[in-house]
Amino acid sequence: MARHHRTAAILSIGDEITLGQKLDTNSKWLADQLTTLGITVSIKMTVPDDLAALAARFKELAETHDLVLSTGGLGPTADDLTRLALAKAIGDEVVEDAEALSQLLAWFDGVGRKMPEANRVQAMRPQSATCLSNAKGTAPGLHAVVDGADVFCMPGPPREMQPMFERFVVPVLRTDRVVLTRVLPTVGLGESAIADRLGELMDRDRNPLVGTTASASIVTCRIRYEGDDTAEGERRLDETVELVRGKIGDIVFADRDVPLAEVVLDRLRERRQTIATVESCTGGLVGEMLTEIPSSSDAYIGGWVTYTNAMKTSQVGVHPDVFEKHGAVSEECCRAMATGGRERSGSDYAISVTGIAGPGGGSAEKPVGTVWIGLASPSGVRAERFRFNGDREMIRQRSATAALAMLWKAIKEPRA
Ligand code: ATP
Repeated sequence: MARHHRTAAILSIGDEITLGQKLDTNSKWLADQLTTLGITVSIKMTVPDDLAALAARFKELAETHDLVLSTGGLGPTADDLTRLALAKAIGDEVVEDAEALSQLLAWFDGVGRKMPEANRVQAMRPQSATCLSNAKGTAPGLHAVVDGADVFCMPGPPREMQPMFERFVVPVLRTDRVVLTRVLPTVGLGESAIADRLGELMDRDRNPLVGTTASASIVTCRIRYEGDDTAEGERRLDETVELVRGKIGDIVFADRDVPLAEVVLDRLRERRQTIATVESCTGGLVGEMLTEIPSSSDAYIGGWVTYTNAMKTSQVGVHPDVFEKHGAVSEECCRAMATGGRERSGSDYAISVTGIAGPGGGSAEKPVGTVWIGLASPSGVRAERFRFNGDREMIRQRSATAALAMLWKAIKEPRA
């Protein structure tokens, strides 16, 4: 067993993955777990079902890492080569494991089937390896020490692999590293604008390291300490969070990984206020984001999808002259939708969205991606014009997020 597990390699095995038929989610999950445990993943590899290639990868990764984790290739068929490849890398014979065989037989017994002969191979292991029992399926995992590195082979299906990792791998991991992270999700600025504001706080040799990740219109600032002292790490993180907040505090909407909709709903609840939605080009996406959060009904009272002009008139009272004079994608229409939605629902706030999500329907004056977002509130109504990039789906997502962001800005301060 390795003295400390400082560095790890993750090997995802299978033609399915190298051929692009299946997404490798195992390595993402494992990397996340290891990182949290303070172990640095220095390489992730994907290897097809090829005995010689697999054995070579096991060997070279074990020579250069303290920990090697593989998933896949432990099934009963001829293309499941992990057992043999590991044996080849160690230079071991494969032997039948009596305990693993009886667990396999018991597993089949438990599901009321006779074990097919083909499955017997799953009880084989390299001589010096140990089998790890699989609570959720037939394929036992394997643990071996190769060139001083701990090598764990786990089955491919995530629902089998994850409990095996937690039960057999986590307890033997030893690390003298401490990794601590804080996340600050933001809305309203892109990654490069945030990088400009953060300046040297984003230097790559800084500890804690400050980085950003973007998903739709949410940019999350991640702050990560790596070292050997938890108290020192927490102190440095507090300090860096303060510095980051000093630069971008106005756009940070939470101090943990949480959806914007949840923050908005919490704030409305604290203020004992409600929101309604009137959506056109987002087709209910703002409502979907809000109702995805459990117990949203105490703040989100409902809304309309008013896709046609006729619906905008009949449901929220937009005067037909507005379409005639300004069009449905206009400040006037957007304001009228928000005002009508607020009046007819009796809510404190109403959000409205009207725009051109594309791919058709754009013009020189109102190109695809032009979206008006409105907010009617106790203090009046306002509307803002946006120009979003991307395909239809992206424009709709960005519009819905911008709508929630407009509401968040209006209510982020405690009620006077
Ligand atoms: P089994 O005995 O259940 O077949 P196995 O170890 O042989 O286990 P594979 O045959 O390689 O696993 O893969 C089985 C299934 O597990 C795949 O069809 C796929 O759905 C899933 N899987 C395999 N590798 C991965 C991966 N890296 N990420 C996510 N899912 C995976």
